[in-house]
Amino acid sequence: MSAFTPAMGQRYAASRNHDYGPSNRSNVSMLSGHVRHRLLTEAELVRAAIDAHGLHGAEKFVQEVCWRTYWKGWLEQRPSVWRDYTTGLSRDLKILQKDGQLRSSYEAAVAGETGIECFDVWARELVRTGYLHNHARMWFASIWVYTLDLPWRLGADFFFRHLIDGDAASNTLGWRWVCGLHTRDKTYLARASNINKYSGGRFEMQGYDLAREALPLGDPDHPAPAALSESERPDPSAPTLLVVHDEDTVAECGLFDGLNIVAVVGLDSFAARSNLPVGERAKAFTDAAIEDGVARAARHFEVDFQRFDAAQGIIHAAQQFGTSQIVMARPHVGPLADQIDALKPQLTVASLRLVRIKRTWDIAFHPHADKGFFKLKKAIPKVLSRLEILPGASSAA
Ligand SMILES: Cc1cc2nc3c(=O)[nH]c(=O)nc-3n(C[C@H](O)[C@H](O)[C@H](O)COP(=O)(O)OP(=O)(O)OC[C@H]3O[C@@H](n4cnc5c(N)ncnc54)[C@H](O)[C@@H]3O)c2cc1C
Repeated sequence: MSAFTPAMGQRYAASRNHDYGPSNRSNVSMLSGHVRHRLLTEAELVRAAIDAHGLHGAEKFVQEVCWRTYWKGWLEQRPSVWRDYTTGLSRDLKILQKDGQLRSSYEAAVAGETGIECFDVWARELVRTGYLHNHARMWFASIWVYTLDLPWRLGADFFFRHLIDGDAASNTLGWRWVCGLHTRDKTYLARASNINKYSGGRFEMQGYDLAREALPLGDPDHPAPAALSESERPDPSAPTLLVVHDEDTVAECGLFDGLNIVAVVGLDSFAARSNLPVGERAKAFTDAAIEDGVARAARHFEVDFQRFDAAQGIIHAAQQFGTSQIVMARPHVGPLADQIDALKPQLTVASLRLVRIKRTWDIAFHPHADKGFFKLKKAIPKVLSRLEILPGASSAA
């Protein structure tokens, strides 16, 4: 973050849309993996940008960070959209097993063997590095759906399995946006001229016959926003097990201070991203983030720690350490929250109280994410003032 801070102002605004390829990523931060695992909070990132460039100078960068917040807040209020994605994906995977023609098109796409040069380069880059530039994600998703005619959820799953920053909200809703399922009458069509212009002269697309139109795959079907969950209140005196999980690995920064933490466990929900094999690069990043986060938290609270890959592990750990309360940063709608929700009956049987605490960033921003991005964008200065992130303030948020 420190290295990229000088570039978060005008330079970012002017050059962020260019994908110069893996050997030159100087125009974007590449911090999405860190933010996704909250090794770095959105508040820290935005404060660094504003301190260096002012809110006006860093406007574009701040807005991009807030796109993440918008997607997260929007999905929090429409959990059924996530459920539709997971059930639809299971259906698509079953069809993939049976339909030989679909399977060979799919396998060529994920192996980077379609014959569309740029697409093949991005497919291999994603698997090899765990990252794709934002513009490449848009082009890729559009070609996947409109040129290759593949089911969008299979593409979203391919991204989710391999992206280091793979995130239930940004990924699912990013794909839905490309297909016209988020904003009415708005789809994204990848054009050869645009790819030529923004990919640093790496591709010459003239010979390829990309789809010429991108019709919405359906009407946006947005259920009315559900009430946002409250931040739950812990009992400060109860012996407490702290869970550091892959959505939030900075447990030592304020959220749990003043509690009677007797042990820390790390919970890794990475494998739950998909029923298909997950990417090595993304897995290694999540592993390292949790390992680091758990060790820091254990040092901060001066207690022992353990790690688990399955949510059931935290019940055993709570019993082993004799705790009556389990605390964690509140997981957002996605595979981890699904795992934790499934644990509730067992928690009741074991008389364990689960307390999920929300970060003030989420509490302040998510109510503005119930409609389109514009509403949240308009609220940015007001919310950042409330969070004391504008210059001179020092809240951890
Ligand atoms: C189809 C599709 C799928 C995507 N899947 C994911 C995903 O699984 N996880 C993910 O974090 N992002 C996703 N994005 C958004 C975006 O592509 C990445 O966040 C961005 O490319 C990360 O690179 P960076 O850190 O260099 O971004 P920078 O340009 O340096 O931006 C700074 C930070 O802002 C946030 N951000 C920037 N652009 C966006 C955006 N459009 N949407 C949401 N957050 C943004 C990220 O946290 C990023 O680290 C997806 C976009 C599309 C079109």
